[in-house]
Amino acid sequence: MKIRKGFIGTIGNTPLIHLKKLSEDTGCTILGKAEFLNPGGSVKDRAALYIIRDGERRGHLKPGGTIVEGTAGNTGIGLALVGNALGYKSVIVIPDTQSQEKKDALRLCGADLREVPAAPYRDPNNYVHVSRRLAEELNESEPHGAFWANQFDNVANRQAHIEGTGPEIWDQCDGKIDGFAAAAGTGGTLAGVAMALKERDSTIITALADPMGAALYHYYKFGSLKAEGSSITEGIGQGRITANLEGAPIDEAFQIPDSEALEIIFDLIQYEGLVLGGSSGVNLAGAVRLARQMGPGHTIVTILCDYGSRYQSKLFNPAFLREKGLPVPPWMV
Ligand code: PMP
Repeated sequence: MKIRKGFIGTIGNTPLIHLKKLSEDTGCTILGKAEFLNPGGSVKDRAALYIIRDGERRGHLKPGGTIVEGTAGNTGIGLALVGNALGYKSVIVIPDTQSQEKKDALRLCGADLREVPAAPYRDPNNYVHVSRRLAEELNESEPHGAFWANQFDNVANRQAHIEGTGPEIWDQCDGKIDGFAAAAGTGGTLAGVAMALKERDSTIITALADPMGAALYHYYKFGSLKAEGSSITEGIGQGRITANLEGAPIDEAFQIPDSEALEIIFDLIQYEGLVLGGSSGVNLAGAVRLARQMGPGHTIVTILCDYGSRYQSKLFNPAFLREKGLPVPPWMV
């Protein structure tokens, strides 16, 4: 019997989807790894599970303990649900700018949710620093201690993709893959998949797809961190080289405006029946740019990170799009 064991057994082994319209438009084979089909609804279930298992192995996370993390939402959902399945509590710190849908989902998952005002990383009140301090405090006060997941600088995150996502993509393509493009939040997915693929075939071209307002495009293109503009996408856009990004073999970088990502997201609904979040649009725009650069006949893979329903009140809300000066497709009104 081919039965998966609970929530944890359902993480990973996601399908790789051929995207018809983008493939036709580019003359390439554009493939999306369907990470939105993970049981918590995003690519971050993999990192959550790996970080928790690694914390247990190292003795940092004890039975009945509390997992603490700062997250744009998806990692928190993954941690809370894996936590539920394994008997851990979760305390999640989230910037108040993130979508209501993700906050509601976190509460539903049983996380103790702490919303904080959005602040840059250099500010001590940034959600990542708040979560670290909170973990230190709770480690003293909680009967079974607390564990800070530290997804940005804990390389157990990218290990999930070195051992899981990357090899799965390679196997699903039978090794016939020419390029891989993805955005970076923590950088775990981009770095881990890039490392796994390059190890198997060093000629595969790996590319960062960066949203506006992030500093990595400038870093990989010109050697220094520099940010310009802003983006409505969530979960991606990094201003520093996290430990997960250190040593990542990245060949190319593209800067993707929201309008380009959204056009793809809206097309996917109309032509493929896939309703995905904004970071998937940035990833696909990066895959398309890489396809155009490499020319017809190549196979390019990217990540479909999470469902569009997680951003219903933003990406698919004409009033929100107009307020941000973004185009509203005629069929939406
Ligand atoms: N897309 C979404 C919607 C996310 O929540 C995240 C994680 N923050 C990413 C992409 C990027 O993944 P990673 O942290 O592995 O770079």
